[in-house]
Amino acid sequence: MDGETRTIVWFRRDLRIEDNPALAAAARDGSVFPVYIWCPKEEGQFFPGRVSRWWLKNSLAQLEKSLTSLGAPLAFIKTQDTFTALLECVKAVGATKVVFNHLYDPVSLVRDHEIKQKLAEVAIPVRSYNGDLLYEPWEVYDEKGHAFTTFDAYWQKCMSLPMEPVAQFPPWHLVSATGTIQSCSVEELGLEHESEKSSNALLGRGWSPGWSSADKALSDFIELHLHEYSKSRLKVGGNSTSLLSPYLHFGELSIRKVFQCVQLKHILYVKEENILGKESANLYLKAIGFREYSRYLCFNFPFTLEQPLLRNLKFFPWNPNMDRFKAWRQGRTGYPLVDAGMRELWATGWLHNRIRVIVSSFCVKYLLLPWRWGMKYFWDTLLDADLESDILGWQYISGSLPDGHELDRLDNPEIQGAKYDPEGEYVRQWLPELARMPSNWIHHPWNAPLTVLQSAGVELGLNYPKPIIEIDEARESLTKAIFTMWERESSARAGSTNGTSEEVHDNSENFELPIPTVILSVKAAGSTASSRDQRVPSFQPVKNNPISRKRSKNIYDEEAIPGKLPNHNKAGPSKEDEEDSWTAESSYKKQATSSSFSVPHSWMSSSTGNLLQDCEHSDPVQASEELNATDQCPSKMGE
Ligand SMILES: Cc1cc2nc3c(=O)[nH]c(=O)nc-3n(C[C@H](O)[C@H](O)[C@H](O)COP(=O)(O)OP(=O)(O)OC[C@H]3O[C@@H](n4cnc5c(N)ncnc54)[C@H](O)[C@@H]3O)c2cc1C
Repeated sequence: MDGETRTIVWFRRDLRIEDNPALAAAARDGSVFPVYIWCPKEEGQFFPGRVSRWWLKNSLAQLEKSLTSLGAPLAFIKTQDTFTALLECVKAVGATKVVFNHLYDPVSLVRDHEIKQKLAEVAIPVRSYNGDLLYEPWEVYDEKGHAFTTFDAYWQKCMSLPMEPVAQFPPWHLVSATGTIQSCSVEELGLEHESEKSSNALLGRGWSPGWSSADKALSDFIELHLHEYSKSRLKVGGNSTSLLSPYLHFGELSIRKVFQCVQLKHILYVKEENILGKESANLYLKAIGFREYSRYLCFNFPFTLEQPLLRNLKFFPWNPNMDRFKAWRQGRTGYPLVDAGMRELWATGWLHNRIRVIVSSFCVKYLLLPWRWGMKYFWDTLLDADLESDILGWQYISGSLPDGHELDRLDNPEIQGAKYDPEGEYVRQWLPELARMPSNWIHHPWNAPLTVLQSAGVELGLNYPKPIIEIDEARESLTKAIFTMWERESSARAGSTNGTSEEVHDNSENFELPIPTVILSVKAAGSTASSRDQRVPSFQPVKNNPISRKRSKNIYDEEAIPGKLPNHNKAGPSKEDEEDSWTAESSYKKQATSSSFSVPHSWMSSSTGNLLQDCEHSDPVQASEELNATDQCPSKMGE
């Protein structure tokens, strides 16, 4: 061990000791200075919501204790600028190196890339590692060097590649590199506001953040529940899945470890000819694959943060109706399964994947609300809020992925209720006003005879709303919207090919981008030479990209209801992008100059815009406080 090497270990969303490559490398080299830097300003519109910050705070507290017991306490810094804070640490400690583990969301990609460049300018060696994925997103391409745009092909390729094993032993002792910096306590980071504490206290009853709880949750799941996963994951109530997503989001659990533990079980099940176990393990590994894929898409198509992967939605006539958005958020749409989901989300910060699909589809297909609005609301309220998985989920349901739901697929919440909550237990749990409704009417109380409603104490329009929109009307509006989208798309194409200046403007996207093809061999300026090191994406846009033409089978749904509309030629963009290449950085800069993603800001200035102020804000802290305080949101639901 070279005693002269003093390394700053910059923790972010890798809050664990075990199988943490950056920490392990630093510990091998010499003394370490672990630091967590909290810079609310840099979080921008992706400032984490209340429950997510609660989780982070508790997880950091546990990590601090663990690192202290290993010999190198974790320093906390609250700052206005991450690079400046890192540089201060380097100077104070006399550090010879900075290390960290990769993140792949578009905002982190840009920030990390800039920090690397700036550290290089002041001659500080910096090294980054894969601590969050089975496969780096720049390792998986097709034979032509193009990025995959369908999950099955991507995952098949992944499964043919070798995987790095879990590091055998976590460091058992750390040599601390000392230095005096302006640090603070985890409490002083300000992750939890006074006003939030009483609501958050309840979260502690159901969840236990931190790497040691993550380890326990994993072993419990594998020993007790994995075997039944293929059956139980279809139940929407209760703990029917692994509930590991918040741990995985904050890197409290190594994904390699999860994968290898499940794979071992799979081998065992195969040996035992245990069909259910085998199917369950396979499905679970595939679920992990979706998480990998979400990072893969965000890295290779960083614009998906604000624009759908398929360009078709660019011309979709969204209905930015604030009242509808509010009714959806509050769980007052009149559709019990949707409302139960939205109340559970608000009360607990948690939703089963099936319910996420149902409520998000309702938001987009019934209410015609822009998908990014829903995505931002999920981001603000989910305990496992994860930018990449959130983007993948919302694009999946809104017809934006080649292998996602079709845009014209309209699921009926009444039928879904009968299928996923046959006894109505889930609805009764979250909608006490419907608690006495008999099971055969609970998912469609509007059809129930008056006598049934009366004996259940339900007064539609008074203590439970009538449907915000009738199913037939929703189907008609969606069909009309899709035709309008096609018309707009055709006239835009005609306008751009005949040389006229006629333009059709989308009402939610502020700029347009053709879907680029990722070319493996093109390297972004400034990307580092090491193959283990972080890359930044680089694209070459092409004409008529095939992504928008084909639609494969759905990636994570059991069944697909055949589309009601005739096939439409979803031709790719005819207008060539003028830029030669795209990087995450350029995407981010565009985002910075555009208000397109930020749900409220595009509408704040309009006459109806201020209606959104109750749940969306330019000041994220204030926004989250208002979100909690507002009497318009169902804040009484369980918190
Ligand atoms: C509209 C929408 C938004 C979503 N937003 C998020 C989000 O913000 N954060 C988040 O972690 N997941 C999100 N998901 C994915 C999925 O719903 C959750 O990962 C899953 O429900 C978490 O529960 P679990 O850990 O018990 O999952 P399990 O079924 O036990 O799966 C194990 C792990 O696999 C991963 N996984 C499973 N399904 C998916 C998926 N469809 N996409 C990506 N990863 C998956 C998760 O890391 C999960 O912890 C979203 C899905 C949809 C449809």
